[in-house]
Amino acid sequence: MNPESANPAQTVGVIGGGQLAWMMADAAKKLGVELVIQTPEKTDPAVSISLRYPQGVAAHTILAPIDDSAATAQLATFCEVITFENEFVDLEALSQLQNVCFRPSLESLKPLLDKYDQRCYLRDRHLPTPQFSDFSDTKIPEFPIVLKTRRHGYDGQGTFILKNSAELETTLKKLGNQPLLLEEFVPFERELAVMAARSLTGEIIVYPIVETQQENQVCRRVIAPADLPVSTVQEVEAIAHTLLESLQVVGIFGIELFLTPDGKVLVNEIAPRTHNSGHYTIDACTTSQFEQQLRAVCGLPLGSPDLKSDGALMVNLLGYETSQSEYLDKRQQLAEVPNAFVHWYGKIESRPGRKLGHVTLLLDSLKDLRREAIELAQTIEQIWYGKSALTR
Ligand code: ADP
Repeated sequence: MNPESANPAQTVGVIGGGQLAWMMADAAKKLGVELVIQTPEKTDPAVSISLRYPQGVAAHTILAPIDDSAATAQLATFCEVITFENEFVDLEALSQLQNVCFRPSLESLKPLLDKYDQRCYLRDRHLPTPQFSDFSDTKIPEFPIVLKTRRHGYDGQGTFILKNSAELETTLKKLGNQPLLLEEFVPFERELAVMAARSLTGEIIVYPIVETQQENQVCRRVIAPADLPVSTVQEVEAIAHTLLESLQVVGIFGIELFLTPDGKVLVNEIAPRTHNSGHYTIDACTTSQFEQQLRAVCGLPLGSPDLKSDGALMVNLLGYETSQSEYLDKRQQLAEVPNAFVHWYGKIESRPGRKLGHVTLLLDSLKDLRREAIELAQTIEQIWYGKSALTR
């Protein structure tokens, strides 16, 4: 590794080999970057990159858990910089490694890996966030409340919306002794998200703000751009700038927010990497979030985040059964929807709620983009889940 080199990096280590790493392959090919992936299982999506591009992207894999710092030390011998597709790493152990260039840096990640620390970081910088406590005092505010495990939460795993003390008691029993975050329930009007990137030279770009729709705390749909007053757009963009600047990010971050009924925005969560709410950028933006991540961490100038169409809709294809089917028939039907781009992650097993792929549709109606998006989402979900699953 030569982190001081002024030349753009051409070999990038990626910690984590899920679909986010898998989706870096096209961008890596375009930029002529070699990827080396650290991931535990040979069935993980990104392991197949070299199969996908037999003569294209050079990619190889170190099969090891993502929190295995000895494996990361080995990863560092193959590449100039290391970035993350999954932040559930052992920061303490990684900080012991000598002469390894992490982008974003371990210091940028430090305040974010624990949800309580993340809330404190936001509060200390006067950025709006829901009211919270570390659950050490037993004074519970009024129900409903939201209880979260402080580490390793994703796709709503570890997030519990509780309506009464009986639910609280059952959940506490289930969670045992782990550290928890307690926060106010926000009766949001909509959920928003935004991707933002910062380069090695400190340039910041912010993608369009999107509306995200969650069911059972899992993202189902993303509509880009969100229909918002200019003042809200400016506020969210300012939050993104402040965060990336204060964390001295080199890379791309996803920021999830609540929009309250009285028009306030509150930051819910910061993801220090590419994010599900940015998948639409692959087909709908001049520079995808994956290319932007590689540009930032390689030390290249950032690309334009502009939409190429008036708007876009992204629908997640979530597993709805336990099966080893490749769903070729349904994927074919989805591909036949006009302006649809189907992305299939190649996971060998489907399980309820598992993210198996997504579909992006380009929209060209500025008049009532949200309504058009919602109608199209129903068409996609009808094909994917069928009638019975729609009522889940
Ligand atoms: P994860 O890290 O698993 O994605 P989040 O904290 O983002 O967990 O929560 C997942 C979803 O749960 C959010 O998108 C939102 O729909 C709901 N949620 C989380 N926190 C709150 C809250 N304080 N008030 C209301 N809903 C919440």
